[in-house]
Amino acid sequence: MGDTNLTAILYKQGDLRLEDATVKEPGPGQVQLSMRDVGICGSDVHYWTHGAIGDFIVKAPMILGHEASAVVTKLGAGVTSLKVGDRVAIEPGVPCKCCKFCKKGRYNLCPDMSFCATPPIDGNLSRFYCHDADFCYKLPDHVSNEEGALLEPLSVGVHACTRAGVTLGSRVFICGAGPIGLVNLLTAKAKGAAEVIVTDIDASRLEFAKSLGADHIVLVTSRDPIDTANKVEAILGDKADITIECSGAPSSIRTAIFATAPGGCVVLVGLGPADVELPIVNAAVREVDIRGIFRYVNCYPTALAMIASGKVNVKPLVTHRFKLEQTLEAFEMAKQGKGVKIMINCEK
Ligand code: NAD
Ligand code: ZN
Repeated sequence: MGDTNLTAILYKQGDLRLEDATVKEPGPGQVQLSMRDVGICGSDVHYWTHGAIGDFIVKAPMILGHEASAVVTKLGAGVTSLKVGDRVAIEPGVPCKCCKFCKKGRYNLCPDMSFCATPPIDGNLSRFYCHDADFCYKLPDHVSNEEGALLEPLSVGVHACTRAGVTLGSRVFICGAGPIGLVNLLTAKAKGAAEVIVTDIDASRLEFAKSLGADHIVLVTSRDPIDTANKVEAILGDKADITIECSGAPSSIRTAIFATAPGGCVVLVGLGPADVELPIVNAAVREVDIRGIFRYVNCYPTALAMIASGKVNVKPLVTHRFKLEQTLEAFEMAKQGKGVKIMINCEK
């Protein structure tokens, strides 16, 4: 097998292969990138194990990977914002830039979004990849390639905490201590939350959250949402001002509503079953706002500034490291739910 552009291609459910692909030339406004670190996301693993997420179905071979950093190797026509040799973080979703959502600045809602490793769009778990230059963010010298890759999940935390209205003194409840719950914990703390309480059904994940700065942790042992909400309230001394649901588990979403104070806000980040029964009248009569989020919008610059200034430290999130050649091993480990963030280094 040649290895000019070793690439991780998902052919179909359960069929992930490493192959040498052609190296593409950057189109107008694009840069060609030599890939550095790519984090494995739950969605990459899910496409591999299930071949689909909701309506997004892998119908043709697709390159995986979307949490990435790289070095610019070529400039396409008209690119002036970057130069060859710049290290960058790649924001993986490129919208149409023309529709009413894009024009309003809510490009994450663009119906013509091209998002890496969401079928049929290729991702960037490869040696070389081309991307729009205006969705590449130059990394300062003291920000590492791994931190650059972690801007992707961190941006989800930035967007969720912004939509939740987390501010100085907020008491925040985060449901689920996976990578996404953890970036919300880091962001909420950086935004000045006074107390952050985190739940999970997995004790080791909670210990990890504690090591990252969670003030309180609660192991969920009951499927009764009121039971868990009462535990959260007892520890905080009151209901939470803001709850950020990052598990997608129906019982946890119910807990989120019961544990949030009147006039508070629940942000739904976790995506589980399409239809979930909720105590909606309880939320309505207590004016608990329920908001969704979809990825992030205009969050990369904020996430980068948070890391560059030292306001958040995402480095401890990386628990395992592999080379691109070891992609299958890395995905096996991710499937088993081991560790927190698994990084794949794509340098030859
Ligand atoms: P993950 O599976 O690693 O983490 C989920 C965590 O929730 C796990 O630690 C799990 O043990 C815990 N959990 C399960 N049931 C629970 C319960 N009843 N109460 C409390 N905790 C419980 O996933 P992740 O990568 O951290 O992502 C979290 C969720 O966010 C996923 O549903 C993912 O699809 C979603 N997500 C949404 C967006 C968006 O744009 N809305 C973006 C990224 C991820
Ligand atoms: Zn658009």
